Amino acid sequence: MEEERMQSKKRKRNKPRKSQNNNNNPSHQKNKVTHEPNQSSSALVHPTKSSTFLDKMRARLSGGHFRMINEKLYTCSGKEALDYFKDDPALFDMYHTGYQEQMSHWPEQPVNIIMKWLKNHNSSLVVADFGCGDGRLAKNVKNKVFSFDLVSNDPSVIACDMSKTPLDSSVIDVAVFCLSLMGTNYQNYLKEAHRVLKPCGWLLIAEVKSRFDPNTGGADPKKFSKAVCDLGFSSVLKDYSNKMFVLLYFKKKDKQKSEMKEIEWPELKPCLYKRR
Ligand code: SAH
Repeated sequence: MEEERMQSKKRKRNKPRKSQNNNNNPSHQKNKVTHEPNQSSSALVHPTKSSTFLDKMRARLSGGHFRMINEKLYTCSGKEALDYFKDDPALFDMYHTGYQEQMSHWPEQPVNIIMKWLKNHNSSLVVADFGCGDGRLAKNVKNKVFSFDLVSNDPSVIACDMSKTPLDSSVIDVAVFCLSLMGTNYQNYLKEAHRVLKPCGWLLIAEVKSRFDPNTGGADPKKFSKAVCDLGFSSVLKDYSNKMFVLLYFKKKDKQKSEMKEIEWPELKPCLYKRR
């Protein structure tokens, strides 16, 4: 085990990090954060005692791929991310295998909280799921859901960069961003949500907690909230009670100001997963 760790350290030193070459935003903070509630548990590499050396190596490799793709998505624009997966759609599956593995260590998944919220509201509400992943939300609620992601492996998912969805304006009751404000131009995703939402429509955001923790280089949640309100929303709920994620709920204002002022969007640091 010790030898394995040493070898992995050597690999880490020797291997150039592909995604760093693609990072067009060097000022973006890239503090490593751990998202596992149990610090001692393995995050991505989770071999059982009976697994073979080869299995362990495969898991390590896929964990490495996941971290590389994850970093890429947090450090490029939505347009670049779309082109990245167009060039090699297999990377999307690789990302989601790692993502599911990571999520399996969270005591509660934010997408389930959003499902509960929808189940407690009228099922006639039309939903847009921005960055839907495998489209789980749509599959588990009665509502009509438009699911968007960079790649579609399911007929119910519309492949696009979510800063430009094919939706008409003012047709959506609930816009959901569940751990999906990844691009460096995340404000364009929120502007798109604002465009497609009906007046008084809901904007539900679940994000990794550390991205909104100024003590660890995260954004000031007040600044983020102010920027969203300047876009034309009212803040309805801020829930920091979960250890892993924050919930920020807004409502689109009924009447929009004719003159838009310059909005100061705080930078949201990437959420990087630690090598284990
Ligand atoms: N909401 C899902 C998946 C979260 S993972 C869940 O909670 O389980 C974040 C997802 O956002 C990824 O599938 C990623 O591909 C997607 N995403 C990131 N940037 C995007 C963009 N510009 N356009 C569309 N989808 C995007």
